[in-house]
Amino acid sequence: MTDEETNLREALIAVNRRMVALGLNRGRSGNLSARFEDHFLITPSGADPHAMGPENLVAMDFDGAVRGQGAPSSEWRFHRDILVARPEINVVLHAHPIFSTALACLGRGIPAFHYMVAAAGGASIRCAPYATFGSQELSDHALAALVARRACLLANHGMIALGESLDLALDLAIEVEALAEQYGAALQLGEPMILSDVEMAKVLEKFRTYGAAGPKR
Ligand code: 13P
Ligand code: ZN
Repeated sequence: MTDEETNLREALIAVNRRMVALGLNRGRSGNLSARFEDHFLITPSGADPHAMGPENLVAMDFDGAVRGQGAPSSEWRFHRDILVARPEINVVLHAHPIFSTALACLGRGIPAFHYMVAAAGGASIRCAPYATFGSQELSDHALAALVARRACLLANHGMIALGESLDLALDLAIEVEALAEQYGAALQLGEPMILSDVEMAKVLEKFRTYGAAGPKR
């Protein structure tokens, strides 16, 4: 195994554990994948993030064949389909965070109640319709909800966040969960004001360069 693959495997394991430490996931819920060369690495199905090591990650071809050994995440279809459809994306993160999942259980996405919704790439964060976990139908719904976006909610299930890198995908997942918590709190107080498409277009334009000069991880 090359140093590059070893490093990526170790980073995947570290981020998978951080998802639990940050409260984005509990127990065995959620999964994580990263593009590597002409295939991708994905967390195994039903595994405890604190019990798995770099060697337990499953290598998969984009046709869904497992390279070597291991049982990939039950959600390998949406990981594969997103990585195939979105060449600019290298990491797919799936979690069941409390506030995102609570909204998703109402079938609600996150509208432009706060300008930071633009962090996911558009004027709203959509909620994909419900389909059984692990199904091709769920993958199809997720892919549609992610058009021109880097995050979506999954009805009665959780959320997906995408990134060019592991750090960016994790940062976005944290931001989406914070937005879901803020939106839920605002809904309890009344009817949040929704920013107009014109204002969100301005914000999205500013986001194209926002933070570009800062330090990078
Ligand atoms: P896996 O353990 O198979 O990845 O499933 C967890 C999950 O969140 C299914 O949606
Ligand atoms: Zn799930």
